[in-house]
Amino acid sequence: MALGGLFAKKSGGDHASGPSRAHGQAGAALSSGQRLALLDQFEDLGISWFWATDENGRLIYLSERAAAQFGERAPDLNGSALADLFELDRDDEEHSQRPLGFLLTARNSIVELPVRLAGCSHELWWSISGKPQFDSTSRFLGYRGSAKDITAVRESQRDASRMAQYDSLTGLANRHRMSKRLTATLIAYKAAKRSCALMMLDLDRFKQVNDTLGHPAGDDLLKQVAQRLNRIVGDRGEIGRLGGDEFQIILPDIDDRGELGDLSDRLIQMISQPYSLDGSRAIIGTSIGIAIAPYDGIEPDALVSATDLALYAAKGGGRGQYRFYSAELKDGANLRREIEEDLRDAIVGDQLELHFQPLVKSEDNHVSGFEALVRWNHPERGWISPQDFVPVAEDTDLINPLGEWVLRTACRQAAEWPGDLRVAVNVSAVQFATADLPKIVKKALAESGLEPSRLELEVTESVFLGDPKGTQLVFRALKELGVRLALDDFGTGYSSLGYLSSAPFDKIKIDQGFVRGATEDDNNNAAIITAIVSLANALKMETVAEGVEAMDELALVKELGASHIQGYIFSRGLPQDEVLERLTNGKLEFDPQGPPKHRADRKRMFRRIGVIHEDHRYEAVMRNLSKTGAAIEGLLDVPLGTQLVLDLGGGQLVVGQVVRSEGFSQGLLFEIPLISDGADGLCTRHRISPYALAAAGMPLAALPPGNYNPTNIGNDGTRSRPTFLQVDVAATRAAHG
Ligand code: C2E
Ligand code: MG
Ligand code: MG
Repeated sequence: MALGGLFAKKSGGDHASGPSRAHGQAGAALSSGQRLALLDQFEDLGISWFWATDENGRLIYLSERAAAQFGERAPDLNGSALADLFELDRDDEEHSQRPLGFLLTARNSIVELPVRLAGCSHELWWSISGKPQFDSTSRFLGYRGSAKDITAVRESQRDASRMAQYDSLTGLANRHRMSKRLTATLIAYKAAKRSCALMMLDLDRFKQVNDTLGHPAGDDLLKQVAQRLNRIVGDRGEIGRLGGDEFQIILPDIDDRGELGDLSDRLIQMISQPYSLDGSRAIIGTSIGIAIAPYDGIEPDALVSATDLALYAAKGGGRGQYRFYSAELKDGANLRREIEEDLRDAIVGDQLELHFQPLVKSEDNHVSGFEALVRWNHPERGWISPQDFVPVAEDTDLINPLGEWVLRTACRQAAEWPGDLRVAVNVSAVQFATADLPKIVKKALAESGLEPSRLELEVTESVFLGDPKGTQLVFRALKELGVRLALDDFGTGYSSLGYLSSAPFDKIKIDQGFVRGATEDDNNNAAIITAIVSLANALKMETVAEGVEAMDELALVKELGASHIQGYIFSRGLPQDEVLERLTNGKLEFDPQGPPKHRADRKRMFRRIGVIHEDHRYEAVMRNLSKTGAAIEGLLDVPLGTQLVLDLGGGQLVVGQVVRSEGFSQGLLFEIPLISDGADGLCTRHRISPYALAAAGMPLAALPPGNYNPTNIGNDGTRSRPTFLQVDVAATRAAHG
């Protein structure tokens, strides 16, 4: 049927808007033939098309141009049910409640309904409108309507909504979407009692790359980071970029901290691999904070601030690390804030001090020099470790005044030593990045009168992450002054051997991490030390083995050829007066003193814990802890083989068996080993679920920090009876000194 057949009988008004308007405007001056020609022209323009159905909802007319969009189906369209030609938009909340077939059967008017052409190879969208037609006896005749192509409009709408949800640079979800996703997930999971981990990542040294290589390189770097994250996380979670160099990962249904630790290790390793950016090479790292719902937070805000705190701790711990949230981290964050506030006063006031740790020659145990280690005696907190305040100083502008104070003080005090012993001073990579360093060094030497050859500057590999040209200039200027250079903590960072040949080092310090455990079986630390030593020899550099504590470690590093040794086995850092006293007495030789063997990471401690046996809970003290077991004190004569549950706090319960028992002291072997908490602590893989506690009658909340008494949950109030006698070890020790 032609268009004329459909519309010629119309008396006007009671059909779809398109023809109606054309009709109305054309007015009485046109003949019906002219009107039809006009409609044909209108159809040809392709702005809008016409369609019609019979009383059974079958298509009896569709503009030719419109039909053509159906491609191969076009010839068979007439007679097809309209409802079969189009699909509704499932995501369209406004229209999707009723299927098209329903609308048609109900003889409703259709107003600008977006529909997708069914059975077409590519996505095409129309907006259709139509009105039911009735004859004078109210008999339903079918629909007459119009349609237009809205494919392009929809695409641009979709792009806009993508832009509102995704980060245009990396294609990852943006902050808005992540926040919506997290909220939706946590609400659903709370109802379903499921867990969800949240990771926050912050790139280390991204700013340096961005500043030195330029913003396009920085953008490229972020894209590559996003790709690596995607590759590792895969479909286990959703990754988002919150802005800058901050990324977030939502990991549904993961609460195993062992698994999360492994995943974090892989993320850190992958992110730390070199990047090629438009011909330049860049190396960055990442720090990761992890929190898990419902253990660490139930509401999105609480979980997010828990990951923030964990991230903060990871960064403070030296970067390139992950950290699980724990309630104690709040204290750490407070400490950091306090440090920031007080450090300025400490530098100008009299709170900083240098201690000097000897570097000893392997061949005769004679001291060859001392490393200056800064110490802060805080008026309220007491001694604060440089590991806690140097990173804070590096993040603020305080590292330069701090570094200058250290340099001047070290030079002045070393000048007081008899003889020509060297002093080694740690210089932060941030100081290195300021062109002033050679000037400051020159001034410190001039003021103190110290021979330049007696000053050794220790830098870590991170100096190479800055601007390479600037770094080379600073190296050259320092060498021209005649000072010595040492590469500190070698092996921990990016360990490019290229650094060694390109920079004029006199000494390599092999990181403690390689010395520690080198005497154990299952690692290749000894081989690594050998390799570093032979490389250093080839480049005519001295080698220092750092952190030697035990006799077996000393024997090993000597055997492996390290030319110098530094570690507690000879001495800790000494205050200036002790150094002076020793040196004036001519005591240049240090005697090794320490345990015969390095003990595997068994940490000594004195920590109150809960011990649960059957349905009774005891208070005890944990004296040491390793991954596989613990020693506890406080229960008398517990038979070998007894199963005890240790409550380590924060919902961490560990099942162990008594394998040693003497009086009130027992050794336990754990059923499931503990795992690293990312720092040097240990934690359980799993914790008691707050859902389980809620089921037992406690209000649903994140786990409290301390011990609590799970055996009491649901108790009827009658006290359980103890099997063992409990001894208050803390009180006994206090009484007996
Ligand atoms: P570092 O330069 O690698 O210094 C060696 C650190 O290892 C010192 O810790 C030292 O006390 C410790 N150590 C030495 N022998 C042993 C051992 O046998 N066993 C163990 N477990 N540790 C040992 P300290 O003084 O806490 O300093 C930590 C880090 O803080 C230093 O590592 C250095 O990177 C930084 N630092 C210290 N003083 C300064 C300073 O004046 N300026 C700057 N920028 N950084 C400093
Ligand atoms: Mg050092
Ligand atoms: Mg070191």
